[in-house]
This record gives sequence, C-alpha cells and structure tokens, in this order.
Amino acid sequence: MSMFPNYDVIVVGAGHAGCEAAAAAANMGQKTLLITMNMGTIAQMSCNPAMGGVAKGQLVREIDALGGYSGIVTDKTMIQFRMLNRSKGPAMWSPRAQSDRVRFAEDWRLHLEKLPMLDFWQEMVRELLVKDGRVYGVKTGMGLDVLGKTVILTNGTFLNGLIHIGEKNFGGGRAAEKAATGITEQLRTFGFQSGRMKTGTPPRLDGRSIDYSRLEIQEGDTEPGKFSFSAETKPLAEQRPCHIAYTNQKVHDILSTGFEKSPMFTGRIQGLGPRYCPSIEDKIVRFSDKNRHQLFVEPEGWNTIEVYVNGFSSSLPEDVQFEAIRQVEGFENVRMFRPGYAIEYDFFPPQQLKLSLETHLIEGLFFAGQINGTTGYEEAGSQGLMAGINAARKCQDLEPLVLKRDEAYIGVLIDDLVNKGTEEPYRMFTSRAEYRILLRQDNADLRLTELGHQIGLASPERYAAFTQKSEAINEALDLLAKTSITPDMINGLLESRGCALATQSVKAEKMLVRPEITLRDLMDVNPEFGAAMGRHSEEVREQAEIQKKYEGYIRKEREQAEKVIRLDDFLLPSTFDYHKVKALSFEGREKLSRTKPNSLGQASRISGVTPADISVLMVYIGR
Ligand code: FAD
Repeated sequence: MSMFPNYDVIVVGAGHAGCEAAAAAANMGQKTLLITMNMGTIAQMSCNPAMGGVAKGQLVREIDALGGYSGIVTDKTMIQFRMLNRSKGPAMWSPRAQSDRVRFAEDWRLHLEKLPMLDFWQEMVRELLVKDGRVYGVKTGMGLDVLGKTVILTNGTFLNGLIHIGEKNFGGGRAAEKAATGITEQLRTFGFQSGRMKTGTPPRLDGRSIDYSRLEIQEGDTEPGKFSFSAETKPLAEQRPCHIAYTNQKVHDILSTGFEKSPMFTGRIQGLGPRYCPSIEDKIVRFSDKNRHQLFVEPEGWNTIEVYVNGFSSSLPEDVQFEAIRQVEGFENVRMFRPGYAIEYDFFPPQQLKLSLETHLIEGLFFAGQINGTTGYEEAGSQGLMAGINAARKCQDLEPLVLKRDEAYIGVLIDDLVNKGTEEPYRMFTSRAEYRILLRQDNADLRLTELGHQIGLASPERYAAFTQKSEAINEALDLLAKTSITPDMINGLLESRGCALATQSVKAEKMLVRPEITLRDLMDVNPEFGAAMGRHSEEVREQAEIQKKYEGYIRKEREQAEKVIRLDDFLLPSTFDYHKVKALSFEGREKLSRTKPNSLGQASRISGVTPADISVLMVYIGR
C-alpha cells in the first residue's frame, strides 16, 4: 500500500518559490504535496534578511494582491520598514523591510500548516517519473514513488551546488545543507539544456563585538507602511535600527592579498554571478578608483546578536575576510559567526518554458525560482505563485493565467525570462518595466485583486475589503472633481511657495495637478473639503491623489500599452512550423521554433526575432 495519495500538484523544494507554489495550489483546491529536503529550513532566507526594495517591493505587493503569502509573512515578522525612493515620483516608490530571519521562516511554516489540502514530506527528490512526454510523479532518495498530475521544481541553489571559500570547495546547496543530485542529469537526458550560475553571501558577525557608536545609524520610516493590502497585518509600532559602515583602503589592500586564492579570479568558479550584487573583491577590482564602499550593518532579528554585513559578500579565504573586516571602523574587535562564501549551482535557461512556467519538453512539469536563472526571494516567490496557480489550473482543465507586461511586474519578469532568457542571475528593476507608471506598488491591489478572486485565490474577505476601497477611491475622486478652490483660499499658499497665483476658481482636481500642491494643502485651505476628504483613510486619499496628479502620464502610458498589446490578440498556433517559412530570418526561425510563442506580441519580444520577421508572420496570419 502506498503511503501517499495521488496528488494533483507535487512541489519540490520549500524555498520562497516552493512555499508560494504550494500555498497557491492548495488554496485553489488541489491536493498538494510539498516535498523538501529539510522541513527545518522551510522559507529559509539564504542570504540577506530583507524583503522588497526597488522593484522587488512591487513584486511582493503583487503577490499579496493575488492572494499569496509573502507580503503577510513579511509584515508579521519585519523589524524595520522603509519606503525607498520617496523623493521620486510614485512609480519609483518601493517598500523594503528588514526581517527577523527565524520568525520569517517560522511564520511561513505556520501559514502552510493551516492549509488542509497541503501535505508535507521531508526527503530529497532524485528523479522525475515521466511517461510519453508527461510527468506523473517523483522518485525520492529512499526510492519511494509519489504520484502526481503535475510537478513544480523549485530547487533554488541546490542542484549540484558547490560552495567555495578560498581554495576550499565542497558540495552543498547552502551553508550546512546538502546539494541535490540526480535531477539535472535526468533532465539533460530528456533534452533540457542546463547552465551554471553563482551567487555569494557575506560573513555573519557577533553584534556584541561591534562598536556601534562609530557607525552611522539608519532608522526606519517614522510612519512605517506595510506590504499586505489585507487588514490581517498592522504597521510596526516599534523598529530596530540598521547601521552604515565603510570599507577603506586598508581593507581593500588586505582583501587583495587573498586574490591568488580567490575561486573567482583563479577561474575555479565558472558560473556567472549577479552583476548588481557583486562580491567585495569584485567591487574592488571593478571600481578600483574608489577607496571605500558602503556596508549596511543589518540585525538578523528582534532578539538575536547575529548581524548581516550587506555589501561584504566574499568567497576569499576565511582568514583574509576576518583580517580585512577588522579594519572597518567600528569592527576593530569584531568576531565572526561564519565567513562569507560563494555557491555555484545548475539552472535551466528559461526559454525552455511556456509563459505558464510549464516546460515545453515535458507536459505537467513546471519550473519556478532560482532554477530559472533568477536571483532573489521576491522573484522566486512571484514565479512560485504563478507556477502554483497554473499547475492548479492545468488540473482543473483551465487555460493558464498569464499576466501581461502592462498588468504586473510579475508579467514583465516571466515574459523577460521566457522570451529573452538570461545569461546572468536575473533580478527585477523598475527599468525592466516599460509601463512603470501603471505598475506602481500602491495600486497592485487595484490591478490584481479582482483576478486573484476570479481564480479562487484572493479570499472573500480580501475581495470585500478591495471592493470597499475601490468605492471609497471613486468617492474621493468625485469629491476632487466637484470641489472648487477659490483664489482667496489658495493664493496665500501659492505666493509663499513662489508659484503663479490663481486668477479664478478651479476644481480641486485641477489644482492638484500643480506639482507644488498636495492633497493635504487643499484639505487645509478648504476646511469643508478637508472634513469630507478626512473621512477617507490615508490609503484611499493617497490613491486618489496619485491618480489625479499623474492622470496625464497614466493615460499616455495606457494608450501606449494598448497599442503594443494589440499584437497579443493575434494568436499563433503551437503547431506552427516556423522552419517552413523561408522568408523568416534564420535566427528568427530557430528562436520561434524553440519558444513557440502563443501570440504575435510574444513573438515580437523574443530576442533575435526582428521586426521584419514579425511582418512576415503577419502576412502568414493574414492568410
Ligand atoms: P531556495 O530558497 O534556494 O529553496 C530551494 C528549496 O528546495 C530548499 O528548501 C531546498 O532544501 C529544496 N530542495 C532543493 N532540491 C531539492 C530536492 N531535490 N528535493 C527536495 N528538496 C529540494 N539573492 C539575492 O537576491 N541576492 C543575493 O545576494 C543572494 N545571495 C545568495 C547567496 C547564497 C549563498 C545563496 C544560497 C543564495 C543567495 N541569493 C541571493 C538567492 C536567494 O536565496 C534565492 O534567490 C532564493 O532563495 C531562491 O528561492 P527558491 O525558492 O528558488 O530556492
């Protein structure tokens, strides 16, 4: 008798991708198994204890709006909150939280344990069960067969993981954890291509040995926000500060003495690392004109003495790391808990996936997270959520859910991966999104909650709160459209700010378009309006203000998006034989055959497919 029922969805790996995938599939009513090597490391933050940041914060807000858990868990376990880029326009605002590493993992596990449709199994998966091009389960290290209609692989940095510290290297998926073997080798026999990437992490320090009086302090926001749109979480009442330290020439000189033993410089590491998160040795070489680099000294939690040194990622020998870090002002007597290290691991170039994250080669098999060449918890969680949704929808015989580039950063992320691929660890930036005025962190719920609800993921309570908020925003917009601001009311303020005076009454919505005027100003100069607006929450007022202030830009971007997105309406059959169309460029034929785009829009975004190729395809579709 098998110990396991037949599952709808089997998720391999309980990192950030795996947790979101498992939660989504189970919440959508599918019998789901989360199988992971070590249940003690569910939702482990492998590197820095932080969520969000530029563009990554937008991803977490989107996950939350769709009904995922990353935002809720972050809110419940953060120790500091900051809204980055507040001085820029709202398209750039990005929430970032410093997390309590242990509580983050614990809270994720508690959320998962509450899901009745989710089972757990602790073991390494070594093999996939595949017949006639379709996956039907997994085989574990103990030789157990677990059957499932779909399988989602979220192996992170574990596939043939190799850890490097100076000249030493050893197998491992993360510090003190085994590497996963077998899967890459098997997938290659099915025709999958794989590659190697690398990433690294800094040393962890004993906070008791740091002289904080010599560091700069970095406090959280005075009015902290949060990630989740749900009322389940509240902003922090108390926060823990972070600190800033700097390297200096002496630190750099000592680090340089270790270069001949560096796995990066001696060629022992072959995988490409994240360009935007370089190791300290990489920074010293690449920016040799700089004699100092900033280090963020981040506590690992509320009560722990462990400290993370953001910016000092290194794979140099441990004694060199130790000697060098002691030259940093404030770190003269520092003790290390463990050195930094680099890790190399296998990934699968994501052009082998459909936009649903299902593989082209094996039906029912999905990939999500670092295995697709991305880096970061937020990127992993986003893909996990979408893979979980689409595996569940496959079991329900429904079309996959694919987010478009003008709908979500998650859409941009997956579209980029599938159509352009990536040669180095891919992380999200606001610059990757062409419609970033539409894709703001503040409106993620307005963009995605309806969708989350339709697919059975966003809970009825969340949906009810969203409907109420949408109505309130409309009322606030209405108020802005109806209220008049007279010259008597506003000119004193305009004069004090050195702006052109009003010559006649104008509607509040018009006055708000002036860059120097805020909604708060209008509420102050027109008390009746102030009282009516004051009945709405801060969140609703902020939304109404952004929508009105940037109305022109938002409209323009929407129009542009609609023009481009029309190409997505021209569908291309998956059976289309591009090799037969000789008018296509050679590269175009190759890339189109590999990616099998489902629309002309997707075809136009594949790297190597030219505008001329698109014209040729248009002619064919026309026929
Ligand atoms: P992971 O979080 O790695 O989780 C994978 C899970 O799968 C684990 O639970 C593992 O036990 C399980 N697993 C793997 N194989 C099997 C198997 N065969 N059977 C059963 N279970 C399995 N990101 C950044 O953004 N910036 C950084 O600077 C950065 N530095 C990093 C440094 C290091 C040393 C490491 C290890 C990671 C770093 N990351 C960094 C990456 C970040 O940790 C990942 O992007 C993120 O955790 C990926 O999430 P994931 O869910 O894809 O995989």
